[in-house]
Amino acid sequence: MSPAALTVDVYVAPMRPFAGAPGQGPGDDPMWSPMSSTLIAGAEQGILVDTLVTLGQVDALADWVRGFGKRITGVYITHGHSDHWIGLARLQEHFPEARGMATREVVGRATFEATDPGLSAYWKASFPGELPETAVLPEALTTDEFELEDHLLRAVPVGQGDTEFSTVLHVPSAAAVVGGDVVYNGVHMMTAETDENSRQAWMGSLDAVAALNPQIVVAGHKSVGAPDLPASITASQQYLSDFSRIVNEGGSVEDIVNAMLTLHGDRDNPRTLWHSARTAVAKRG
Ligand SMILES: [Zn+2]
Repeated sequence: MSPAALTVDVYVAPMRPFAGAPGQGPGDDPMWSPMSSTLIAGAEQGILVDTLVTLGQVDALADWVRGFGKRITGVYITHGHSDHWIGLARLQEHFPEARGMATREVVGRATFEATDPGLSAYWKASFPGELPETAVLPEALTTDEFELEDHLLRAVPVGQGDTEFSTVLHVPSAAAVVGGDVVYNGVHMMTAETDENSRQAWMGSLDAVAALNPQIVVAGHKSVGAPDLPASITASQQYLSDFSRIVNEGGSVEDIVNAMLTLHGDRDNPRTLWHSARTAVAKRG
């Protein structure tokens, strides 16, 4: 008998303010982008992909998950940025069986974010009083493949996304890819950790996602209600290519923001675009 088909359901925490430096122009107020957590479930068991950030976001996620009536046995973490794993401590209060899982490189980056004084202070200051007291880090997988009710799931280390050592989770039997921050959907892309070369590598990572031939593609940052379709792969590549071209035109932060908004003004959270543009101009020297 073949196992029950896996289902893929996506929860999105809406965009919300965080405590950050004040904006320098329209749309630059500190807002945290909308984020997804994905439930992959069989007949009885399920795993989540990525955790959201604040105690309140995780509590709301847990309420949503309970509606499916599954035993949550794992939480796969796509990459090391704290907004994708820092909710693990709270999630395990709701689902004590849920083991955090990530590739060795992702655990390394998450450990750095948890222990580097500057970075851990940044997260605490950004969401004062809203984060777990003690970080729970994901555990390193010893292989890139694991099972959920006899279905194979594969961690695919694609490399560059909005940070290095990024992965996506491939669910072959559901023709689904949960893309973490390799894929964005309807949200400005965070390019502050990249330069032109690594953005090129990021576009290659998106090619690697497309090569998996998915019918469902879930972006780590997606606007509420956006469909989880493969079109977000090429749209992400277009965004990165436009960003590099516009940065190379040599204009100011405002010039970059305005040129990108002309092409991509329908995306959520221009604060991220302002941040990316400021970083690109600073790197230009
Ligand atoms: Zn993120």
